[in-house]
Amino acid sequence: MIYAKKKWGQNFLVDQNLLEKICNTCSIKKNDEVLEIGPGQGALSEKILQKTKNLTLVEIDPELISSLKENQLFNDIKILNQDILNTNLKELSPNGQLVVIGNIPYNITSPIIFWLIDYKTNWKKSYLMVQKEYADRLIAKPKTKTYSRITVMTNLHFNIRRCFNISPNVFHPRPKVNSSFIEIEKREISPEIDLKKYSQIARLAFNQRRKMLRNSLSTLLNEKNLQEFDFTKRPEDLVVEDYVFLSKIL
Ligand code: SAM
Repeated sequence: MIYAKKKWGQNFLVDQNLLEKICNTCSIKKNDEVLEIGPGQGALSEKILQKTKNLTLVEIDPELISSLKENQLFNDIKILNQDILNTNLKELSPNGQLVVIGNIPYNITSPIIFWLIDYKTNWKKSYLMVQKEYADRLIAKPKTKTYSRITVMTNLHFNIRRCFNISPNVFHPRPKVNSSFIEIEKREISPEIDLKKYSQIARLAFNQRRKMLRNSLSTLLNEKNLQEFDFTKRPEDLVVEDYVFLSKIL
């Protein structure tokens, strides 16, 4: 019997119908290369294996690793005992054909999203289970309360779609929050975009989200800039293309 460990966000999926639904949503094809983040006891991994044998599991908990390795179903697949955030996708998937799937620990959702950005050329599609409120922010529209720094950061690189919401009842132990299953597709971006500047502007702007940009971005502005853009706007008024424009002129 394995007890769920809070520190690693262990809430295991126990609903067979939902596991099937997740697997079908990812439309995995025979021979697709799949990496599963945090397989836990392997409930989702078993379903993925019915679609493709080309599966790699990355799990941080050594106790779960032992139990996965005892499962004969997983005899022929790669099982890695490591932190996903220290996993080098350049080595695991040099050709970039990987599909990344994970019912992830919610406390490291942002680091996992930034890890996906870092290794953007090494996977082709990703599917994650995230807290519902986090999904709301990822897919938020400008001029709404949930439109935030993470929206602006992710929407530069990705098209994100909520596939469906999930109730806490399908997990054991039952979490306190609702969840969403999301699909992440990559967007091509111009290599000329200064990503450091883009992220600096998003950070400064949303650090003081109620302020006009002429205040929150004051350290970056000169007289000429004020003629080039309306800096009386607030951060939630700008679409991704506006942030790209600002990263060019500031
Ligand atoms: N996929 C399983 C399921 O759906 O039943 C388990 C999901 S559980 C929410 C998250 C899993 O991620 C746990 O097995 C946990 O040990 C693992 N995990 C937590 N932090 C991790 C990390 N940094 N790298 C890899 N796995 C991690």
